[in-house]
Amino acid sequence: MKLLEDRIRQDGTIKPGNVLKVDQFLNHQCDVALFDQMGAEWATIFACKPIDKILTIEASGIGIACCVARHFGDVPVVFAKKSQSINLDGDQYVSKIYSYTKQREFPVIVSKRFLTAGEHVLLIDDFLANGKAMNGLIEICKEAGVVIEGIGIAIEKGFQEGGRELRAAGYDVQSLAIVKSMDPDQGTIEFA
Ligand code: 5GP
Repeated sequence: MKLLEDRIRQDGTIKPGNVLKVDQFLNHQCDVALFDQMGAEWATIFACKPIDKILTIEASGIGIACCVARHFGDVPVVFAKKSQSINLDGDQYVSKIYSYTKQREFPVIVSKRFLTAGEHVLLIDDFLANGKAMNGLIEICKEAGVVIEGIGIAIEKGFQEGGRELRAAGYDVQSLAIVKSMDPDQGTIEFA
C-alpha cells in the first residue's frame, strides 16, 4: 500500500536491533485517517471472506482493528490482553508469546466468552517480525475452534521469518507494507 510505505519512509526511524519505530502514526500517536484507509484496503483484499469478528492483541493492534471493523460491517473487535486483571472473569484461553520489542515473555489472554467455535475470524496486528505474537493468537483460535479467514498485518519485516512461516503453514497473510531491508546508517528503507 503506497500510502503506508510513503508514511513509513517519511516518519519511520530505524532503531538498533532492526526495530522500525513508527510511533508518529502507528504505535503511540495514531493517524486514524490512515488506519481507515488501511481498513478499506483489507476490506477489498478479504472481500470474499465471511468475517464475524476481528481478533488483535493489545496495545497497538486495538486502534487499527477498530478502524478495520468499520469496513467489515462493524463486526466486534476482540483484543487479547497481555496481563491478568480482576476484570478478566470466567474461563480464558491463554498462550504465551515472546515480545520482540520488549524482549520478554507475556501471556496472551482472551476470555472464552468472546470466541465461539465456528466463528470466522480476521487476525490483525501492527507488525509481523518473527511471528511470535501471531502464533500466540493462532494457538488461541485453534483452542477456541474458530476459523482463521486471514491475517492482516500493517508492517511486515520481510527479512524476519514470521511471514514466510505463516504463509507456508497455509495462512492468508496480507501485509500492507513489507520491509525488505533497512539501513540504520543511511536511514533508508526498502520495500518488497
Ligand atoms: P513478532 O511476534 O512477529 O516477532 O513481533 C510482532 C510484535 O512485536 C508486534 O506486535 C509489534 O508490537 C512488535 N514489533 C516487532 N518488530 C517491531 C518493530 O520493528 N517495530 C515496532 N514498533 N514493533 C515491532
